[in-house]
Amino acid sequence: MDPLKDHTIEFTGLKDGQHEFQFVLAQPFFDASGEEEWQGGHVKVDVTLDKSTSLLVAHMKAAGEVKMHCDRCDGPLDFHVEGEQRQIFSLTGGEDTDDDELVSLDDRAHSINLTHYIYECLRLAIPIRHVHAEGQCDPEVEQVLRKLIVEHEPTPDPRWAVLKDLQNKERNS
Ligand SMILES: [Zn+2]
Repeated sequence: MDPLKDHTIEFTGLKDGQHEFQFVLAQPFFDASGEEEWQGGHVKVDVTLDKSTSLLVAHMKAAGEVKMHCDRCDGPLDFHVEGEQRQIFSLTGGEDTDDDELVSLDDRAHSINLTHYIYECLRLAIPIRHVHAEGQCDPEVEQVLRKLIVEHEPTPDPRWAVLKDLQNKERNS
């Protein structure tokens, strides 16, 4: 995703050592993410930036809620996400490596932008199938789903067979 200017850290003025930053991801982030399923949300990202003469190490910790739709009942779902990601930037230039975790910065670079890495962190933290917790789905849809299962399930749940037996007995009695 394209960098958002909120996530730019000017590092040239920073002393060697640890620096803390906090970002809050809100609507503009989710709109810009290009992920259709992410409809909004509120996620805090704590960044610890370790600066030394040759490296910048960014530890990102994301926690919060992403607004999505439930894959089971299609109702609105505030999905709780927690994720962590580390990204290393080399300040001494050098060869680009195959290592995704290590990015070589240009000699003239004076800032880094973390939008892409924060996005990756969230993407990894959200499973492909996201559903409400047990019993939290839309009750109306739940009822319909239950009926569908009864009518179309090729191997019926034995519990339903017992229920049907009971119903038949009632009808016949
Ligand atoms: Zn649901």
